[in-house]
Amino acid sequence: MQLQFHGAARMVTGSKHLITTDQGTKILLDCGLFQGIQTDELNQHFGFNPSEIDYLVLSHAHIDHSGLIPRLVKQGFKGPIYCTGATADLCQIMLMDSAYIQEKDVERINKRRRHQGREELEMLYDSEDAKRALDLFKPVRYGQNFQLGKDEVDVFFTDAAHIIGSAAVNLNIKDGGTFKKLTFTGDIGRPEDKILRKWDDFPQADLIICESTYGDRLHEAQPDLQAHLQRIVYKCCVEDRGKLIIPAFAVDRTQELIYALDRLSSAGQLPRIPVYIDSPLAIKATAVMKANEEYFNPEILDYIERDGDAFAFPYLHYISDVADSKAINDRDEPCIIISASGMAEAGRVKHHIKNNIEKPSTTILFVGYAAPHTLAGQLKRGEKHVNIFGQEYEVKAHIQALESFSAHGDYNEMIDFLSCQDAARVDQLFLVHGEYDTQTSFKLKLQREGFGRIHIPEMHERVVV
Ligand SMILES: [Zn+2]
Repeated sequence: MQLQFHGAARMVTGSKHLITTDQGTKILLDCGLFQGIQTDELNQHFGFNPSEIDYLVLSHAHIDHSGLIPRLVKQGFKGPIYCTGATADLCQIMLMDSAYIQEKDVERINKRRRHQGREELEMLYDSEDAKRALDLFKPVRYGQNFQLGKDEVDVFFTDAAHIIGSAAVNLNIKDGGTFKKLTFTGDIGRPEDKILRKWDDFPQADLIICESTYGDRLHEAQPDLQAHLQRIVYKCCVEDRGKLIIPAFAVDRTQELIYALDRLSSAGQLPRIPVYIDSPLAIKATAVMKANEEYFNPEILDYIERDGDAFAFPYLHYISDVADSKAINDRDEPCIIISASGMAEAGRVKHHIKNNIEKPSTTILFVGYAAPHTLAGQLKRGEKHVNIFGQEYEVKAHIQALESFSAHGDYNEMIDFLSCQDAARVDQLFLVHGEYDTQTSFKLKLQREGFGRIHIPEMHERVVV
């Protein structure tokens, strides 16, 4: 059989790995969007013919793993899309949102290209394509076997503890007279996630496609999130009587913040001020999380047992309506606003920042990675003037950051994830989803753990295994 790496090859986005079996069955693992600067062209061309793909198996809902599914369907893919139930639920929200962003983005890009006299880009997909893609989803439970091809491939998911519904994909593939076991790790989570339970071990594999995002890094010890938050809330909302604005990714990050605030509230450590979750996407994502409590860790389950709900407390308001979101601006009292997007490049949070950045009583708290060119990136490195919606603003707000929120394991945690394997029995391990320097560093560490043949595939590289 053959493997081909059509994305997340020596980079962290665009996850897409194609298996072609001996009998010619084509199985695509993930169909992610390339993100970041200069990815327009990459997203236009798959490097394979979508109408020839028989099956898509999706590891998790993050857009860099799922974001090109509607384009795959637009270009002729008609097969089933297998993933866990929570992943399917999240994709319902995220792919429709992504279609909306695509529609906006292509307008902006083409305006620039027209100026430069360049050919206009075709829209990647629209909401109709996203809807047609969502009709193809086939949710399966962790551990539930399903078959692809005719007695050819047997598959099941194990929990990867990265985001709700995230899975490692375990395939048993007929290859000549024998079977080969291939595991695709998807993205690997943290062993001590605030909300999710620990990952599952996976059965011994012959071949592994492994992520490597933080292959050269160790995360700092988890800070005491609650204690940090409490100090920041007290300083901003009680002493300065200002607004605390937290730009946060709608899935996962927002729920961790709500849970931390819920615990503070239960302990009587939160001042009586309104907390607004101002993001329709975050509201829907919170509902998906709540519907999938069975994958939570024992600590939060115990808390829910006592508290009733980890994502609801007095003075917490979920804001869907645009008018209600705008109304927050007219109110002068101290409050906490959690809103998307995490890098403050789009979404309602950008308006909240614009309206409050010149007030010294405001604090803006960043809780995730911010690419340097984004508004979040500029504020985090201490720029004194920033441009928002074409206008310059002086930064008078306090800027704070809580760094060690990450949904990806560091290299020790990834090695721990792989420790269920007898390294000597793994024929070949492919590193994907990492920058090349990071991957070479991780490769050395894995060799020390006994993994012999480790390959770092290039974009579109084909390997016979
Ligand atoms: Zn991910």
